[in-house]
Order: sequence, then structure tokens, then C-alpha cells
Amino acid sequence: MTNFSIKSRSSFIDQLTTKTFDVIIVGGGITGAGVLLDAQLRGLSCCLIEMQDFSEGTSSRSTRLIHGGLRYLKQFNFKLVKETGKERNVVAHIARHLTHPKKVMIPAIKNGTYSKTQLKIALWIYEKLAQVPKALRHKSYGLKEFTSVLPGINTKGLLGGIEYIEYQTNDARLTIEVIKKGVEEGGVAISKMKVVELLKNENNQAIGVKAYDMLNDKDITISGTCIINATGPWADDLMKRKKKTVLSKIKPSKGVHLVFDPQRFPLAKAVYFDTPDNRMIFAIPEDGKVYVGTTDTFYEGNIVSPEITKGDVAYLLNACNSMFPAISLTPSDVIGAWSGVRPLIHQKDKKPSEISRKYEIYKDASGLLTIAGGKLTGYRKMAEKVVNLSIKHHFVSRGLINNKTASYKLCGSDFKNELDYQTCHSNFLKKAVNLGWKKEEAQWVFSHYGSECEIILNDETAVPNGFPTYLYHSLMYSLTREMVLTPSDFLIRRTNLFHFYPDLVQKHYKTIADTIQAYTGKVEMEDQIQGIEKLKNTIANIHQLL
Ligand SMILES: Cc1cc2nc3c(=O)[nH]c(=O)nc-3n(C[C@H](O)[C@H](O)[C@H](O)COP(=O)(O)OP(=O)(O)OC[C@H]3O[C@@H](n4cnc5c(N)ncnc54)[C@H](O)[C@@H]3O)c2cc1C
Repeated sequence: MTNFSIKSRSSFIDQLTTKTFDVIIVGGGITGAGVLLDAQLRGLSCCLIEMQDFSEGTSSRSTRLIHGGLRYLKQFNFKLVKETGKERNVVAHIARHLTHPKKVMIPAIKNGTYSKTQLKIALWIYEKLAQVPKALRHKSYGLKEFTSVLPGINTKGLLGGIEYIEYQTNDARLTIEVIKKGVEEGGVAISKMKVVELLKNENNQAIGVKAYDMLNDKDITISGTCIINATGPWADDLMKRKKKTVLSKIKPSKGVHLVFDPQRFPLAKAVYFDTPDNRMIFAIPEDGKVYVGTTDTFYEGNIVSPEITKGDVAYLLNACNSMFPAISLTPSDVIGAWSGVRPLIHQKDKKPSEISRKYEIYKDASGLLTIAGGKLTGYRKMAEKVVNLSIKHHFVSRGLINNKTASYKLCGSDFKNELDYQTCHSNFLKKAVNLGWKKEEAQWVFSHYGSECEIILNDETAVPNGFPTYLYHSLMYSLTREMVLTPSDFLIRRTNLFHFYPDLVQKHYKTIADTIQAYTGKVEMEDQIQGIEKLKNTIANIHQLL
């Protein structure tokens, strides 16, 4: 990846104001990112406009799983299970450094969501449909074995359980890796710029957008042939002038996750377990911590920073304490938390968790294409569908090539095959340790940046006194190649640090903020501090719920 930083921004703005793009994409979450890369690879000239940081909407607030579609089996949607499973294999291949098979235990409980036999049958069907490789298929556990893997689990009604595989990912990093490739392929991607108006010609056809550049406090006009609205839960805003759209059917639902230290919530393996109100949630050990989620409640509040209420925290703590009675978690044990809004497509009389996670594409009279709903897992297929439509409506005569993202490796996943991945991984750890890094620091860099790790290791920029080298050079990488403009861009979305390592953030915050300020120059320091302070307050508020 070449330079993608504040220093590229003015040349991006020049292009935005002078060129007519084939495709203008509004929204820099995983959906918009997928569209940028797909369309750019097919030979279309594209720009992507994001009003916050890339992935700052829903795409940095998920459960971070590349699902195989097990939940769709419960709805007897076999076609979707098959499609999702197949797609999971594709994403695992093109984003190898960000997709890790993770063993998940499901307790079988008398009168619970699943009996053990149901679980076995469901997983057998699921693994066939989703083409799960033999080595990764489920395993059945008797009661004794199950409790030895998950020692603190509530044994009341417990019959044993099943272990199956989910793929762990990092949603925000997946998004930025897709965007980086879209830019490398010639696209323009800009953050902190809000599309405020759809521009139309005398025939009422969309021909561009008016956007507000927050960093320069300036409006600009961007011209394009096809406009794609990939604004997730905000999708209706861009179309609100329309009286009746499919998006009037968007029903936002909020999901909250909490993070704990493993000393307070020791967990050898991930668990997907019943809640007292008959839903199911995950508890997942990751990056030295354990995160739990998600809630699923209809939501009508602020989408930019969906609030975490006392009820959300109590719900998750109660679910964990019911399944693991000895841990007795309280709000003061929470070290991190995030909250996001799903743009679900409304289905009458259904609870949020029963509503299908399908996506919809809608073309309005102006030609604006809106894509909303769906999952992180299916981003590539969603992009393919909407780009196909865009080509059908606008570019048929250009004889464009077919979609090729299924075999196109994302930034950081430049590995020939699995063996190459494993070899690069172990060689990197050895090399970094020889240079004086701790093994866990090298592991952290590899798990975030994949095959780009050598750039970070070989960086010779002088490191401020007392600041960890691996972290400083990761920051430099993200500043120069991942369009970091504020501390929260780096601490929350390019890395896991804010949610998982608050003490480290506290200790090094000033150096991180000063480094970003020195590099970006323009971005107001006050805004940066306010952003992070707001988040710190969220955790402080959770502690006060005690
Ligand atoms: C709690 C929760 C858990 C989930 N867990 C999983 C999971 O484990 N696995 C999975 O596959 N999926 C999961 N999902 C679903 C997945 O996260 C979403 O489907 C996906 O992130 C949606 O991406 P998006 O790009 O469509 O929307 P977003 O990520 O919200 O992106 C839309 C972007 O548009 C921008 N925008 C809005 N208006 C404008 C404007 N006027 N101008 C410029 N930019 C604008 C926003 O700032 C935002 O960044 C989960 C969702 C939630 C909420």
C-alpha cells in the first residue's frame, strides 16, 4: 500500500472537484468499501465519501464474526446458509490475516434453545451446506468433558454440548483493508466529508452530490454518472425527500458489547449461550481479553453514538452471571464497550433478533441506487450485486469485465497459500523478537497488519522516550497509509487498543495525540481530545451504574 494519508487529501479533493466519476459511493463502511473495490477493479472510476472516519458507523461495532450462517438454519433458509457458508470461505481466503477459525462451545441445556440432538443435526446440515472443511467440523461433548473445558459453567439442566467453528475477524480493519486496495487501484476515498445533497439534472436524474468538507469547512460539488447510497442506518437521510421508499421500512436495532479482563471472566474457549429471555449471545476470548454481546433492541436514538444504557449493561451482565454463576460480574468489571445500530429491513410483528439480516437494493426515480441491510460477512456479494446493477443501468456499452474480487487478496493478506501465511507469521515473530520486540508485541502487529508487518518492523523513525517501538511504528504506518486523522481513528478503528487496553491508552495517549497532531497539522486538537473523552466517559458511566 502506498501513501494514503492527510497528505493525499488535497490531491483527492482536486480530483473530486475536477473529474466526472463513473460511480460516487456515499458511505465508507464495509458496504461502501466493497463497492469501491469491486467497481474500481471492473474499470470504473470511483470515489467514496465518508462523513466520519472509515468504518465509524456500524462497521466497527459488530460482534466481529465472519458467520457461516448457522442462524439462518433456524429460519429454514437453506439457500442463505449455503450462500453465506460459501462466502465465508471466500472472505477467509482474501483476508487471511483478519479471519481466524475460532472454536465456539454451545451448551445444550434441558428446555434450552437447542437440545443436543437438535444441535448435532443442525450442525451436520449446516456444515454440509456451508461446505465446512472436514478438519473444522463440529465435535460433540458429554457433560463431564464440557464442564472441564468451561469450568465455571452453570450445570443446572446442562446436558453437555457441541463445539463448532466461527471465523473471528476485525470489522474495522477489514473495512480499511478493502478501502486501501480500492485506492491502490486508482479510486478516491475521503473521510470527514459529508454528502449533504443529491444533485439532479432537468430530467430529475442524479448527476452528482454536494458535499461538505469538514476539515476545510468548505462545500464542494462532485459529478458522477451513478450514485450509490451505502450509508447503512443513515440510508433514509439521503433519500428523505422521497415520500415512499423501501427504506421507510428500515428498522434500526441497537447492539451492545462489553469487554472484560480474563481475570474477572476466565474463558478458555468462546461460548454461544442462552440468555434468560431465550436469545443467544457470544462470549469471546480475543486479544488477551473477553468480549460479550450482543443485545438486540429496536432503537430510535442518536445513530452516530448510540448510547449504552443501564438496561443494556444489566442485560449482558445478567446473562453472563446466569451462565457462569461464580464470576458475579458487576459494572465495575467492564473495561471497554461499544454499541452499534443494525439497519434491519422491517418485518411485521417480529422481534429484532427474529428479523432477517437480508439486504435490499433500491433504485429510485433519480437513478440513485441504495443498498442497505445485510452483514459484514456478505459485503463482497452485496457489492457485486449493486455494481452489476450500476453497470446494467449506465455502462453496458463499455464492455466491462466481470467481478474479480473473489480471488483478489486484500491489503495485508498477500500470502500465496496457507503454508505461506504460517511461514510468514512464524518468521516475522522470530525476526521481531531478535530485534528486541516482545513476542506478544510482534503477534499484535501481525494480527492487525498481516503481510504489511515488515514495513512496520523496518521503520527507522525515531521513537519517543518510553514509548513502545512496535506501537509507535504501527501508529506511523496507520498515519501514512491508513488515513488516520485523529487519535480515535487509530485507537478504536485501526487498532483494538481503546476497547481492549485502556491502561495502555491512558499511559501513551498524549504521545499518540501529539504525533498525530504533528503529522496532520490541520485537524483540531480540541476535537480529537473531545472524541476520546466522550468514549472514556462512556466507561466511567458504566462503572457508576454499580
Ligand atoms: C451489534 C452488531 C453486531 C453485528 N455483528 C455482526 C457479525 O458478527 N458479523 C457480521 O457479518 N455482521 C454483523 N453485524 C452487521 C454488520 O456490522 C453490518 O451489516 C455492516 O457493518 C453494515 O455496513 P454498512 O457499510 O452498510 O453500514 P455502516 O458501517 O454504518 O456504514 C455507513 C457509513 O455511511 C456514512 N454516512 C452516512 N451518511 C453519510 C453522508 N451523508 N455522507 C457521507 N457518509 C455518510 C456513515 O458515517 C457510515 O460510516 C452486526 C451489526 C451490529 C450492529
